[in-house]
Amino acid sequence: MNDPVLETRDLSIRFGGLVAVDKVSLTVQRSEILGIIGPNGAGKSTLLNLISGIYQATEGDVLLEGQSIAGQPAHRIVKKGIARTFQSSRLFNDLTVLDNVIIGMHTRTDTGVLEALLMPGRAKRKLEAAAEKAGALLNAISKDLYARRGTLAGALPQADRRRLEIARALASEPKLIMLDEPSSGMDDRDTDALMEDVRRITQERAGISFLIIEHDMRLVSSLPDRVVVIDYGRKIADGQFADIRRMPDVQEAYLGQ
Ligand code: ADP
Ligand code: MG
Repeated sequence: MNDPVLETRDLSIRFGGLVAVDKVSLTVQRSEILGIIGPNGAGKSTLLNLISGIYQATEGDVLLEGQSIAGQPAHRIVKKGIARTFQSSRLFNDLTVLDNVIIGMHTRTDTGVLEALLMPGRAKRKLEAAAEKAGALLNAISKDLYARRGTLAGALPQADRRRLEIARALASEPKLIMLDEPSSGMDDRDTDALMEDVRRITQERAGISFLIIEHDMRLVSSLPDRVVVIDYGRKIADGQFADIRRMPDVQEAYLGQ
């Protein structure tokens, strides 16, 4: 079955003398969970920044459902269906849990400041509808987070912050969701819960795909359908974890065996 939601072709970026991402070609199929691993500084986060339009490639292309999105601004790429979380949390700590989800949804609604000024009644109704939808979404991801929807995001423990970031990314109704080291700062129990969340989301949202950068071997060995290994900006392996873990290049670069 070949139905790629995302494809990169020879994607590259240079920072001065450093080629941080070097001709990376990969695909994420519809409904697939793709894992990306590689040593620190290999270029994994930079690759995500290229896909999400935060960085502009010096070479290559990014295709979403076969259409080139390279060079488009980040907000348009979110609108087209690629959501993400960041390696370091980007929640609005002074806003409530629910408001953080509403902000994620906002990329899908068109309630602007101007409209709120000109048509306060209509904007208010939209906001109420958004709050209701955000609440339902949150409840589906985590009853526990929903129960704390009025809590300030800054007061949440680490695992719940991660969960909220995923809920916020999902609120934009993405086709593909990219997570940058989602288990960092989590213990084994929280990491298991994270994997459960991802599995449940793929079951409940038919067709959604994940691209997950990870270093936690328990997660990498069991959650992704396929794993891509990046080293010095280059893709050095692409396949089932059980197969790629035996490759000498991969062991040397990463697994340290
Ligand atoms: P990873 O996520 O795999 O740990 P990164 O993608 O963060 O690695 O970084 C890859 C390389 O690119 C590193 O050497 C990093 O210092 C460099 N890099 C990342 N972003 C920039 C930037 N904006 N300017 C210069 N160098 C950068
Ligand atoms: Mg990184």
